[in-house]
Amino acid sequence: MEMRTMPTIGEKVSRLGMGLMRLPTADGKIDYNTAEAMIDRLMEAGVTYYDTAFMYHGGESEIFASKALLSRHPRDSFTIATKMPLGEAEKAGAQPFFDAQQKKLGADTIDFYLMHGINGGSIDHMARIGADEVARKMKRDGRIRYHGFSYHGATDDLPKVLDAFPWDFCQIQLNYYDWYAGEAQKLYEAVTSRNVPLVVMEPVHGGGLARCHPDIIKVFTDANPEASAASWAMRWCGSLPGVDVVLSGMSDMSQVEDNIRHFSPLAQLTDAEQSVVERAMDAFKKLPLVPCTECNYCAKCPKEIPIPRIFGGQNDVVRFGSSWFLMNYRNWTKPENQIPACIECGTCEAACPQGINIIERLKGIEESL
Ligand code: SF4
Ligand code: SF4
Repeated sequence: MEMRTMPTIGEKVSRLGMGLMRLPTADGKIDYNTAEAMIDRLMEAGVTYYDTAFMYHGGESEIFASKALLSRHPRDSFTIATKMPLGEAEKAGAQPFFDAQQKKLGADTIDFYLMHGINGGSIDHMARIGADEVARKMKRDGRIRYHGFSYHGATDDLPKVLDAFPWDFCQIQLNYYDWYAGEAQKLYEAVTSRNVPLVVMEPVHGGGLARCHPDIIKVFTDANPEASAASWAMRWCGSLPGVDVVLSGMSDMSQVEDNIRHFSPLAQLTDAEQSVVERAMDAFKKLPLVPCTECNYCAKCPKEIPIPRIFGGQNDVVRFGSSWFLMNYRNWTKPENQIPACIECGTCEAACPQGINIIERLKGIEESL
């Protein structure tokens, strides 16, 4: 397993990390037999970084980490990361929340402790509930070793968060799709220009870069029939200078083996392989997407149908084979604001600068749903 010593804190970590948020399940519960076998295989292969959180698997992930990892493997053979969600900590009080979390995990010391889901407004929130003070005290008392945060905020707010505290490390979402089509490069540069140890989450875009459109898969299989699309995404992240750990939320043993194979040692992307990733991005651009720019000019819909959100969800189905956002719209939108409520008044189409035939597109999406 490829190992690395993190800058500034000097902690030796495996480049591949296991995220405990998408564990295999059976009957709606974590499938301990399969998941423990995965942990054992990762440990055997030398993976030392394990990342859980209070919120994962409805609170069951930390219990799993305690039983499958902390109770079954020597404590000095791995590091454990978990996170404090500010909303939950506010309800319980930051110190009692931490005490309960540490007890649940069964760890005298939590190696990497993160403030969870931080954004630009979280600095004030942390100060208000005393989360930053508690974390610093826990570090002084040896109950945590490193204090960091996972970032889910606006790109422009990250420098402010990074400069607010002397963080030991941080975790950001990074993958080749968000780098070329989004703002991930700016996030990365904000972190690496400050030499803050960096853990990467969502390197496969929540699985979307593994099950993406066949045109993208073809680019990768033409280049190397033996390598999975996921392995290209994982290696792309691991090849970036300044990325210390690439987390993968592995859900089955085949993903475990695939990741171990590509990180033992990590095969850095060559220039020719980097061109393959760029060709995949070219193929993404040619996909038959709804050309919605989310300008929201169609917001005057008398039925308040969330048109850009629906089109965004539809585009994710095409790009990433992911219906999560589309189904989410269904689950969280009142029936009177869903597509069947459309009265075909044409207000949206008259306002749309992209000239999208919104009514027909919506009808097609409703049929597919
Ligand atoms: S045509 Fe349908 S979606 Fe468009 S504004 Fe009218 S009601 Fe809303
Ligand atoms: S007006 Fe057109 S481009 Fe703008 S959000 Fe609505 S559908 Fe998308």
